[in-house]
Amino acid sequence: MIRLVLLGGPGSGKGTQADVLKEKYKAVKLSTGDLLRGEIRNDSELGKQAKSFMDKGELVPDSVMIGILDKITADFEAKKQGYILDGFPRTVPQAKALLEMLDKQGVTLSMALLIDVPEEELVRRLSSRWTCKDCSSTVGYPDGKPEGAVCRQCGGELYQRDDDKRETILNRMDVYKKNTQPLISFFEEKALLQQIDGLGTFEEISGRIIDLFNKKEIK
Ligand SMILES: [Zn+2]
Repeated sequence: MIRLVLLGGPGSGKGTQADVLKEKYKAVKLSTGDLLRGEIRNDSELGKQAKSFMDKGELVPDSVMIGILDKITADFEAKKQGYILDGFPRTVPQAKALLEMLDKQGVTLSMALLIDVPEEELVRRLSSRWTCKDCSSTVGYPDGKPEGAVCRQCGGELYQRDDDKRETILNRMDVYKKNTQPLISFFEEKALLQQIDGLGTFEEISGRIIDLFNKKEIK
């Protein structure tokens, strides 16, 4: 069974690759948001604790988050259910706590997989979106908007939303790098980091991941 941490920048396509892996390896994709909502809905002890922080507008402490993850994954271990963590851990202390948790469960992380896409390419992908002023439909121009291009739906004028502008995306990229670089180094030190080239078609990238899993005898 796979126990995977997936790393990659915004625009790296890791979310969609996680969906492919989920199918192929019969794994569950775990996002911390969903886990929290589930516990709160079930009104569990950990759910109540999490809610008390969220109600105050505070972040849920790592210890509570790991408690929830421990409960869910222990249940998965019993059922031999693999899982993919997307969006967790976000910090080195969280990564440390995750490895300690797995250690206590007597299992090991399959790997932390980084889908590696050069920053310039991420910026190009993320800043390619244009929106119609009239009907709000969007269009992607990864190689830049051709001069005089108009909305394909209604012929309206196209503009870039602030979120899609290059400056905004460069800022997002700085935040991502600042948070993720230490995490990458941490998993590297633990010999758990694997990287694959994230350039190419969607199928090429899935193929690379599956080849890597085969090589590591991850099923
Ligand atoms: Zn339009």
